[in-house]
Amino acid sequence: MKIIICLLICFYSINISFSQPHIRGTVTLDMEKGYIHCEFRVSNLPELTNYKILLNHGMNIKYFRNKKGQLIPYNGYYAGKMNGEGLEYYFVNNQNVKINLESTFEIEYSGAFPVYKKDLNGFDFKGYIAVNENTLRATEQSKWYPILYDEDTDRRIDNYTYDITVNTKTSKSVFINGNPPKKGISSVFKSSKAFPLFLFAGDYNFVKVKGNYLINTDVTEDVSKKIFENIDSIKLYYKNLLGTDFKDEIYIINHKAVKDLKNGSWGFNTYPAFGFSNLNFSKLLTKENKFKENRYKFFAHELAHNYFGNNVNSGKLSWFWLEGTAEYLSLVALEDYTNKKNVDGYYAYYCKSIKKKKFIPLNDIKNKKQINSDYRYILGPLIFKSFEISFGRKITINTLKTLLELSKKQTLDIKIWEKSAIKNGVSRESFKTFKKDFLSSNMFKENNINLIRKTITKTTY
Ligand SMILES: [Zn+2]
Repeated sequence: MKIIICLLICFYSINISFSQPHIRGTVTLDMEKGYIHCEFRVSNLPELTNYKILLNHGMNIKYFRNKKGQLIPYNGYYAGKMNGEGLEYYFVNNQNVKINLESTFEIEYSGAFPVYKKDLNGFDFKGYIAVNENTLRATEQSKWYPILYDEDTDRRIDNYTYDITVNTKTSKSVFINGNPPKKGISSVFKSSKAFPLFLFAGDYNFVKVKGNYLINTDVTEDVSKKIFENIDSIKLYYKNLLGTDFKDEIYIINHKAVKDLKNGSWGFNTYPAFGFSNLNFSKLLTKENKFKENRYKFFAHELAHNYFGNNVNSGKLSWFWLEGTAEYLSLVALEDYTNKKNVDGYYAYYCKSIKKKKFIPLNDIKNKKQINSDYRYILGPLIFKSFEISFGRKITINTLKTLLELSKKQTLDIKIWEKSAIKNGVSRESFKTFKKDFLSSNMFKENNINLIRKTITKTTY
């Protein structure tokens, strides 16, 4: 069974309780050299004492200035600490003591990145600034623009309203998330709604379908229309399932990974943009113009991140909440799209693929790095499936809805899961038993697998 999964962290736009930060300025690109130069003014920032400003480790800062144009002393440039793809910076006073975040700052910086032509890299991921002979791809995860990190809540603030001019010598088209792509060597992009800034520039065309865009693909308008009809049906499915809607126009971007994906595909979500690699858009549909089963699941996983995205990306279990839920929801959606027997095949395959692997019980996880890729994409959905078998699908979905609500203000953990389950009809005692067997026991993996295997229909796996 060919399984395509979102390999990387996915973010989406959430409502943050303070007013949104705004970024204004100019980006200059030289695609042939892989060169990026930025001059930004970042304003409307929250009052933070425990914070870091994160910027891609390949960017060299010329200076930070305050709103009066005076230099702001800062730290982080010597023996700097990394946070994901970025180096951590913070403002200091003249005695080199950390001071609060300025409400507005200016920053100028440059970076140059390798241009991949014939030879490829051994890896690629959403946080990589990837330049090839045709396009430049930089998502918010790459921290190509300054991102704020709130240390108290372990959250990144990377959704900004913006007013950005992109100048480029050679690119024919430029896209910044939340705005339609534009052609030309100098384009202005403005948004009063905050988005994670996914920058995609290069020599490409795009197709518009009722405000949605397919970018850098060669499919006809008719096929594009059908693809968006299918995506709309998944959106509607989640709206009915989870009770909230998302109405933004969607941007589907085809990009070339800088590693060899062989026969696999790769997708990520930077809502409302979706990046895909090695996906043949003209072959996504059946004769009846419906998504093929594995493609439906692929998009259902990505669209699930519109719910479980940046809001759950904090704390030691962040990977479990982020990918375990999205993968489980994609299987729930698929069950209604095809049938239970088909989806049982996925569960059986997942059970089999981790049979010989060892995992730390969820309740004993101390560090987010302990949740590896198998944990996120295979064991995670199996744990939610065990919850579903134990308490029913309705309670499981309602519990997820409560978790979604709570995740807007706090970091999710097992206690909050318990609270949400109890709110939706699970008794304290039953959750305790579930926790003991499926989250805490040294045999927790086996318990999950055994329960699922007992309830699914026999398949070829
Ligand atoms: Zn994912």
